[in-house]
Amino acid sequence: MLTTRHCSLFTAIVLLAGCTLARADGDIESRKRVALTVHGQIPAGMADRVRIHLELNLAVAVRSPAPNKTPIEDFDEAVEALAAQRAATNLCLLALTGSTTVTNLRGRVYPKEKIAILNVSRLVAIPSNLEDVTDNERVMRRVEKEAMRAIGHLIGMPPCPSIRCAMRTPRNDAEIDSKGRNFCPPCHQKAFSMLGAHLPGAIPTQLMPPAVRP
Ligand SMILES: [Zn+2]
Repeated sequence: MLTTRHCSLFTAIVLLAGCTLARADGDIESRKRVALTVHGQIPAGMADRVRIHLELNLAVAVRSPAPNKTPIEDFDEAVEALAAQRAATNLCLLALTGSTTVTNLRGRVYPKEKIAILNVSRLVAIPSNLEDVTDNERVMRRVEKEAMRAIGHLIGMPPCPSIRCAMRTPRNDAEIDSKGRNFCPPCHQKAFSMLGAHLPGAIPTQLMPPAVRP
């Protein structure tokens, strides 16, 4: 039987959990901001998939300026213009380029400028290594994984050896399909700590009543 004291404690925990979820999911204006730019032609819906994946799994707020019809042909040369486009309030900028003639790069990260460029044309062209998803879904997942890894490197995360982790550096094209779409728990915790975000479901100690603090 629940006593009055138990009910009060239970109510306090439920209210605190609700408060924490609101902080993790609803307070998007307080999150670190990432700019997501599109250059050339990329598959329909891809920019939205990447935005939602980053916002859900990294607790960042993604802002997308108007798409640019011109693809990026020289990654190193494009960095200066992209850096100028990255507003001072943005943590970093992730550029997705399609329609490019660059075939030898899946992407490149520029930590000093806080810029990453993903070559969607190259990621689309990799032969299929999954049989249970459509071609379109397979490409979406590749870009989501490499977007997570690019942002991870830009905030200072090291590569991760786990095949289940998006921070793993693929040793070959096939590993892009076999590795995880999200971070492993240690990388997830490290990224949230670096971003100053709360892990969903975790109640900050200072918000707990003294009776339930660890
Ligand atoms: Zn990891």
